[in-house]
Amino acid sequence: MTRVIWQMIKDKLILPFVDLKSEYYDLGLENRNATDDKVTSDSAMATKKYGVAVKCATITPNAQRVDEYKLKEMWKSPNGTIRAILDGTVFRAPILVKGITPYLPTWKKPICIARHAYGDVYKNTEMKVKKGSKAELCVTDENGNENRELIFDFKNSDGIIQGIHNLENSISSFARACFNYALDQKLDIWFSTKDTISKKYDHTFKDIFAEIFENEYKEKFEQAGIEYFYTLIDDAVARVIRSNGGFIWACKNYDGDVMSDMIATAFGSLAMMTSVLVSPDGIYEYEAAHGTVQRHYYKHLKGEETSTNSVATIFAWSGALRKRGELDGIKELQKFADNLEKATIDTIESGIMTGDLYLLSSLENKKKVNTEDFLTAVSNKLKELY
Ligand code: NAP
Ligand code: MG
Repeated sequence: MTRVIWQMIKDKLILPFVDLKSEYYDLGLENRNATDDKVTSDSAMATKKYGVAVKCATITPNAQRVDEYKLKEMWKSPNGTIRAILDGTVFRAPILVKGITPYLPTWKKPICIARHAYGDVYKNTEMKVKKGSKAELCVTDENGNENRELIFDFKNSDGIIQGIHNLENSISSFARACFNYALDQKLDIWFSTKDTISKKYDHTFKDIFAEIFENEYKEKFEQAGIEYFYTLIDDAVARVIRSNGGFIWACKNYDGDVMSDMIATAFGSLAMMTSVLVSPDGIYEYEAAHGTVQRHYYKHLKGEETSTNSVATIFAWSGALRKRGELDGIKELQKFADNLEKATIDTIESGIMTGDLYLLSSLENKKKVNTEDFLTAVSNKLKELY
């Protein structure tokens, strides 16, 4: 469904206003299959070359999709492939509108989550252990020397164990991406781990962040008037709940996975979450946080009316165009991005919205419209600004 929305956004909101000189890579499943997924890495290389990209949601195939699209292989997640090439960190931020109040009324400004998208429990090795066994951590160095530590002696019971890892390179990239993004957005950044309990693993994250901040970012942060704040994850959770929002919260992989779902839900809807992948060398790829909205697409195919929310995809476009404008010094393009966002928010605040928001909004004059009519309403608002 996002592919349908994508074309409508281009036709109604971008091409009539912007002389768009973009390179296009078709990441639709058919074309990924036809190119043996080469198009995905080509697109990431082009993003590297130009510095800015906007991406439509893509299908990560499962067994059902392999049958449906007659795929040669169960191709990998395009976002995984792109992230590996750009070595990026994903930042997710909610879009706030009047009439949709966060479940926590103290949250006045967005809370942006930065999730470290490498390692930990997502690349783990697990075992079930029989009673009477002993489990050890064993590391063999390049000369064949073994270093062992007891995990647990399972004398009295069966049990479970898990081995996880992370890389200093990856943690450093994560730290730089976070600090760069904080400077870019002029927002404070918080980072939290469980370093009191995990004195080597989590503490390494804390130390790498502290060292990079001290050596490379401290002065830039002072000049920008923003802060870096480290605290224990428990304390961070309590403070986030009490806060007014308006900061970036950097999280380890698992914390970021869980907390980003909590933040999205608490702010209203997944359809109102933007997402941007930022590489440590300052490359930006913008996207909506939600998927392809498959259920709506099957309705669309049957000729039924849909009311799919295009806001996060519109904001992916505005984010990318604003960044392009900044990099190339095109003031009009930056202004257009502001106007596009304003027209979108004004449309919703005037009472015109898609079904998902209609269910949440407290506006009295609210009206549910279909996918296309929402975009037409935004286009009309946008024209008023020119
Ligand atoms: P989804 O596309 O995010 O949709 C899940 C449900 O959330 C929808 O069925 C819909 O609920 C609601 N929803 C999400 N976005 C919406 C929007 N813009 N407007 C209105 N409602 C919205 O997740 P999915 O169905 O689990 O995944 C579908 C496909 O997307 C999969 O192939 C998956 O691999 C892919 N995916 C891609 C990305 C990405 O490219 N970044 C991310 C996630 C998933 P109702 O049906 O109740 O209306
Ligand atoms: Mg999650």
